[in-house]
Amino acid sequence: SMQYPPFIWHNGSVKPWADATVHVMAHALHYGSSVFEGIRCYETPNGPAIFRLTDHMKRLFQSAKIYDMAMPYTVKQLNAACREVIRANQLGKAYLRPVAYRGLGGFGLSAETPTDVAVAAWEMGPYLGAGVLEAGIDACVSSWQRFAPNTLPAGAKAGGNYLSGQLIAREARRLGFGEGIALASSGLLSEGAGENLFLVFDGALHTPPVASAILNGITRHSVMTLAREAGLTVVERDLPREYLYLCDELFMVGTAAEITPIRSVDGKPVGTGKPGPVTARIQELFFGLFSGKTPDKHGWLEPLAG
Ligand code: PMP
Repeated sequence: SMQYPPFIWHNGSVKPWADATVHVMAHALHYGSSVFEGIRCYETPNGPAIFRLTDHMKRLFQSAKIYDMAMPYTVKQLNAACREVIRANQLGKAYLRPVAYRGLGGFGLSAETPTDVAVAAWEMGPYLGAGVLEAGIDACVSSWQRFAPNTLPAGAKAGGNYLSGQLIAREARRLGFGEGIALASSGLLSEGAGENLFLVFDGALHTPPVASAILNGITRHSVMTLAREAGLTVVERDLPREYLYLCDELFMVGTAAEITPIRSVDGKPVGTGKPGPVTARIQELFFGLFSGKTPDKHGWLEPLAG
């Protein structure tokens, strides 16, 4: 079973893990009314650094704005909470999970509930399994579509959205695949259960646009930026399902998944069936940020000591 970290930040202070409880009648538990982030802290030659902490925190506030959730803290205060909970648990490399949720205060859908906030931190290896960053995963196209743009906003990282993610991920695992890829309501490519997609054709990166019911991923943005700076072509475009079978290389990106190669889709090998050179180059550029090999031109590494 899971080993929990000793401490968690909850509503303004660090407390023992077991003390961060929620009432069973909290709004979020019934209606999915929470917004959250996933953030990684990496060891670097200059000490631990939280990758794009402020950009993640801004997205948390954007998600809250979409759902009219009043935030009782500022970005600065929550950035400090992230640092505090990593230090309290004596972690270097860590995954951070800030979550803001409608608490106890009313049972109607539009009830004016208080917003409770927590930040957890724990050690997490490769999200899709040991060795996947090297070997790649076998993916499938999900029988579940992503929600249409006028149903739930994919641009909000809200708890309720992850009912869709759970259907996609659980179906994939049940069928023996490493992850599921969903189509948008348009029928065109969208994203993985918790990852954005990149296809490689003739050395160029192609990725579905934000209008295809994707989360506007921060890793996706980092990859597009690093690739362009390295002279690679990056195109945001609508892509049909069959391009998954025709591309030279394919990979998934996200805070948890980092840069995970996909070696097959629906049982068909991607390219040679092994992670390819462009994927390896993107991994080198991305992980180079944390070893110091890739210059941090944009101030993405926010020191834990900051
Ligand atoms: N899409 C979904 C649905 C996700 O949950 C995530 C993970 N947050 C991503 C994409 C990747 O986003 P990011 O790179 O900001 O972690």
